[in-house]
Amino acid sequence: MCSHDATQEPKPKKPHDIRRTSSVAGLQVESILKRKTETLKDIYNIGRKLGQGQFGTTYLCVEKSTGKEFACKSILKRKLTNDEDVEDVRREIQIMHHLTGHPNVISICGAYEDSMAVHVVMELCAGGELFDRIIEKGHYSEKKAAELARVIVGVVEVCHSLGVMHRDLKPENFLFVGREEDAKLKTIDFGLSIFFMPGDKFTDIVGSPYYVAPEVLKKNYGPEADVWSAGVIIYILLSGVPPFWGETEHAIFEQVLRGRLDFETDPWPSISESAKDLVKRMLVRDPRKRLTAHEVLCHPWLEVGGMAPDKPLDSAVLSRLKQFSAMNKLKKMALRVIAESLSEEEIAGLKELFKMIDTDNSGQITFEELKAGLGRVGANMKESEISALMQAADVDNSGTIDYGEFIAATLHLNKINREDHLCAAFSYFDRDGSGFITADELQQACDEFGVGDVRIEEMMQEVDQDSDGRIDYNEFVAMMQKGNAGIARKGLQNSLSTGFRDALKLC
Ligand code: ATP
Repeated sequence: MCSHDATQEPKPKKPHDIRRTSSVAGLQVESILKRKTETLKDIYNIGRKLGQGQFGTTYLCVEKSTGKEFACKSILKRKLTNDEDVEDVRREIQIMHHLTGHPNVISICGAYEDSMAVHVVMELCAGGELFDRIIEKGHYSEKKAAELARVIVGVVEVCHSLGVMHRDLKPENFLFVGREEDAKLKTIDFGLSIFFMPGDKFTDIVGSPYYVAPEVLKKNYGPEADVWSAGVIIYILLSGVPPFWGETEHAIFEQVLRGRLDFETDPWPSISESAKDLVKRMLVRDPRKRLTAHEVLCHPWLEVGGMAPDKPLDSAVLSRLKQFSAMNKLKKMALRVIAESLSEEEIAGLKELFKMIDTDNSGQITFEELKAGLGRVGANMKESEISALMQAADVDNSGTIDYGEFIAATLHLNKINREDHLCAAFSYFDRDGSGFITADELQQACDEFGVGDVRIEEMMQEVDQDSDGRIDYNEFVAMMQKGNAGIARKGLQNSLSTGFRDALKLC
């Protein structure tokens, strides 16, 4: 049986998400966000509507103080009809915070709540949906499709390595930042996404008909389902039509479960064997035999156009731990201070990862647990390397990594971009508010963090660029930004150039 009839010319259509819906009137929800914030309208002017989803309406919004444009997804509380809906919104925000920092994932800038709605402010993607570009073009060239496939599967890989399953990958959920042909692509809509632990199996049927994996329909699935959806997207990028097609939702599901992949109809005869090989391996019905996102990224087809694969790929956790290892003790302590000031929404994802690695639930990660945890995210390391990471994260030298140490060591360094975080961290060390961190103050902080075996003089010298025996705010910020390749933002650089006094005024 062919998966679709050529006479019917299947075109990708925009199916509705399959998700829980209820007709009951909205819940009287006291508060969705755990931490109260300023109101959205104090900070932003709301503009025209950008898009409408099942749950949210997205508007253009402009930051009053800078004139910068953002997108704001507003979810009306009255549409949240039960506790599960409320939890879904909380989780969407947590997951956005958790993944923020990846170049192809939409960055969340803040979440706000008023009596009517929850508002999620994020970076603006003004270039429209991948879906519309496919419709415009018919289909992509192999080279361009491979480039987009690398981005899409790269997002799947990072989600999985951070313990998140997207569950709704489709071309409508990839937006271009600008109108240009080579504009950056960003993943949006984590409304159906979920945290998972290795081996977890899920049963709720969610996703969108063309993209849903067969094991989701059979109510027994894990993260492999995202790879299936990405495989469907790649098939569409190359041919312009969905691989499993039908007139009704039921007919589509039948095809997903039993249909044959069509590689005979145009343009497939002119598409390379390598591309077909990859698509076939992503659309294997048995999830255990399907390629993982990491394996897809290593497939030769993704090298089309001379792109070198990113091998060996470190999982996100491992690369963050490595980055943390290379930091001096002051920076590590500062990250701990920043970590403690973050909201529950911001660190919920790292909390899940901690739980995943701390298998005996003791609140401490031991060497063995770290080794097993890194093994589970695909990191193949020598014991000595793991031991070095362990020592680096174990700032108080207790022999294990506690929750606070783990969060500090795995925090995405984009948190350092925030002036308020830097100011708060600087103020923590500058006990007397003199505008300088002195050797005594540094010693005091080390005592509090249980950081032993340190040479305060050496620590000072490393940061004290003008050698006046103390650390000023500019020197502190320079130290915090050193080595964070590619994450320094203009705003922060500006504040550095305005000098120490101006920057301190912000504190
Ligand atoms: P769905 O029912 O499709 O799952 P939803 O209610 O979860 O939708 P989103 O998909 O997140 O909402 O957003 C709805 C629409 O708003 C998108 O299809 C898109 O057109 C627009 N949109 C969302 N985020 C942005 C953004 N960052 N920049 C520009 N437009 C956006």
